[in-house]
Amino acid sequence: MVDYLIIGNGVAGQKAAETIRQNDNDGSVAIVSNEDCYFYYRPQLPKFIAGKVKERALFAKTKSFYEGNNIDLKLGAKAKKIIPDKNQVELDNGETIEYGKLLLTPGGKLISKNYPGSDKTDDVIGLKTFNDANNIKEKLKDVKNAVVIGDSFLATFLTEAFNEHGVSVTYIIRNDRLFPELIDVDASKLLELRFQLKGINLVKGTDIKDISVRNGSVYGLNTTDGKFIDCQLIGIADGLEPDIQFLTDSGINLDEGILVDGSMKTNVPNIFAAGDATQLGTGDKSMPQINVRWLKAWKQGIVAGRNMTGANENYDEFDCFASTQIYGVDMVSIGISNPTNGKYKIMRGDYPHPDIDVYKKLVLEDETIVGALLVGSVHEATALAKAISGKKKVSEVDQTLIKQLFDLHYVTTPHRGVICPVCKLQMSLGPNVKPGDTVTCPACGIEIKVK
Ligand SMILES: Cc1cc2nc3c(=O)[nH]c(=O)nc-3n(C[C@H](O)[C@H](O)[C@H](O)COP(=O)(O)OP(=O)(O)OC[C@H]3O[C@@H](n4cnc5c(N)ncnc54)[C@H](O)[C@@H]3O)c2cc1C
Repeated sequence: MVDYLIIGNGVAGQKAAETIRQNDNDGSVAIVSNEDCYFYYRPQLPKFIAGKVKERALFAKTKSFYEGNNIDLKLGAKAKKIIPDKNQVELDNGETIEYGKLLLTPGGKLISKNYPGSDKTDDVIGLKTFNDANNIKEKLKDVKNAVVIGDSFLATFLTEAFNEHGVSVTYIIRNDRLFPELIDVDASKLLELRFQLKGINLVKGTDIKDISVRNGSVYGLNTTDGKFIDCQLIGIADGLEPDIQFLTDSGINLDEGILVDGSMKTNVPNIFAAGDATQLGTGDKSMPQINVRWLKAWKQGIVAGRNMTGANENYDEFDCFASTQIYGVDMVSIGISNPTNGKYKIMRGDYPHPDIDVYKKLVLEDETIVGALLVGSVHEATALAKAISGKKKVSEVDQTLIKQLFDLHYVTTPHRGVICPVCKLQMSLGPNVKPGDTVTCPACGIEIKVK
């Protein structure tokens, strides 16, 4: 019997294993992972494809970590069935493991729209794992033109990776803008400009009609508005959804994800869940839910690990927070950042301003701040997230913050902040930190060179 069994070795599973070991030196810990490698920084995969991050830097843990901490890592094995009545997990390799406590961290699987022709080739790809990244790197050696389609952050990461690898890229956005659920047309224009400056061909308001394949290789695609695009590789990235099919008959309550309370417990005794695959029953239903987030999985893994070893803690972070970087431009969306009906008031000062690549706006409902969008300068993100989660009225927030938000002079002065490339945490830099110095992200521990 294994005292603590963890399904999945992404960031949630990894952090939980570390936390369990810190709190219980004697209990046996095992991790089952259907990937065949040690824990790595998944958000760095696009930079790995682009050749900007070396394989050594991608991997956060090596064999010695698992051996040194007495963690039994079962690689290349998939949990296929959970039998809570017997405290057992069946793996696809025929093994059955009995557990004391079980943590489910299967993460998300790629959502990719299927198109006619895509089943006849391997040149239509998605990016989730290290193996996907290696496969893409190999293919890019023979590719001159690639197409990426999708309305998710993943699609922009893939576009950037192909472009930085030296391939000519067309990026198809099915809507009239990037991330239509999060941002408005003005903010999108600012980000679109980044793609255009890098020579990316942006095509909006269309979709793939079919994919042209000869002898198993892609040679182009037709769009729904009647154009042919010459390409040898197609990336489809419509986001991630909880990978929870294997739990269907387990008795564990599922909705869009594995339902958990704030302590990361499921409805079944001794079974916990954390990370991208979970859905918090305690979430604020008035806010859009942002489920895929490295830092959230990281923190949930720690809470789950602590509670599995006897603590009684709650994950109570404000989840409605999305952040990304496109060609070095930071973007943070918090709460209701892009309302679609007229009951909200928008504050956006003089933005968008033609001379500054910055755009900021606040969304108010009866003077209460319910959302914010920051592009190009995101210094106020943490304070605004606090105000939004605390349902503060705009008059209750520090007025220097509000002034700073819309002060064009402030955004054009040199910034003292940096976003972590892995977990996208915003960090303020102290007055002594100089360009060229290295700072360590307090959340995920990676080192970042200050520009
Ligand atoms: C290319 C890419 C870029 C990203 N960039 C960012 C970013 O910039 N910022 C950000 O916040 N987030 C980013 N994300 C999302 C971030 O990686 C996830 O939020 C985070 O990895 C979730 O961690 P997790 O542990 O919940 O799941 P995962 O990291 O998905 O790990 C789950 C693991 O469990 C395995 N597994 C699944 N089912 C089983 C099973 N039945 N048996 C055994 N193993 C199983 C999976 O194969 C996987 O290895 C990115 C994701 C991708 C793919």
